[in-house]
Amino acid sequence: MKTLGLIGGMSWESTAHYYARINQLVAQRLGDLHSAQMLLYSIDFDALQRMQHADDWQGAARLLVDAARHLERGGADGLLICANTMHKVAPEIQQAVGMPVIHIVDATADTVRRRGLGRVALLGTRFIMEQDFYRRRLEDRYGLKVMVPDQEERAMVHHMIFDELCKGLVRPESKQHFLQIIARLRAAGAQGAILGCTEFSLFQLEDTPEMPLFDTTELHARRAVDWALEKPATD
Ligand code: GLU
Repeated sequence: MKTLGLIGGMSWESTAHYYARINQLVAQRLGDLHSAQMLLYSIDFDALQRMQHADDWQGAARLLVDAARHLERGGADGLLICANTMHKVAPEIQQAVGMPVIHIVDATADTVRRRGLGRVALLGTRFIMEQDFYRRRLEDRYGLKVMVPDQEERAMVHHMIFDELCKGLVRPESKQHFLQIIARLRAAGAQGAILGCTEFSLFQLEDTPEMPLFDTTELHARRAVDWALEKPATD
C-alpha cells in the first residue's frame, strides 16, 4: 500500500473526518485489521485563514508548500490537500514536490460526469464560489456548467463555514438554510450540488435522486484510497 500524506487542519474538524473515512475505506477493501498508511501535517488554521481573508495567497502557498515538503521527506508517496479552497495553490504545491497531488476537483468531477449530470451548483467558501480557479477546472476539463448561490446566500454560506462548521458548531437552522439554498438552485436548473467545502460533511446531508449531492471530502478520500491501493508499494 502507498503512503498518503495529508495536509490537514483546514479545519481540523474536517481533517478528523478524512482520517476516519480513509481508514474505514481501507478496512472495507482489505478486511481484517487493515488501516491506511498515512502521514498528517496539520497546520494552525488561524494563520492560514488570515492569509486567505487578506488575499495573501502567496503566503498561503508558502505555508502549504512547506507542509508538503515535510510530508515528502517523511515518506509520503502521494499528497492530499484536505480542503477545497487551498486547491487554489495546488499548482505551486505540485511544482514543489515529486509526488502526485491527488486533486479534489478531479475526484469530484469524475463522479458528477459518471452520474450523467451537466449542470451543477457549487457551494463553498466565497473563494470557491467567487474566484474562478475551481469552477474553471470543472468547466474546462469536465465540460460542466457551474451555478453558484446569489450574493446574500454566498455570504451566509461563507459565514456558516468560518463561524460555525470550522469551530465544530453544527446548527440545525444553518443546515436548514443551506438546504433551502440548494433547493433554490435546483429550481433554477441545477441537477446536483457539489458540496465544495470539506466541513459540509458535518451537516450529514442525505443524497436524493432529485438532487444528488457530491460530498467532496468523501469523494476525495475514496479517490485517495483507490490510488493508495492501486499497486502495492509495500506489503
Ligand atoms: N475546508 C474548507 C474548504 O474545503 C474551508 C476552509 C478553508 O478556507 O481552507 O474549502
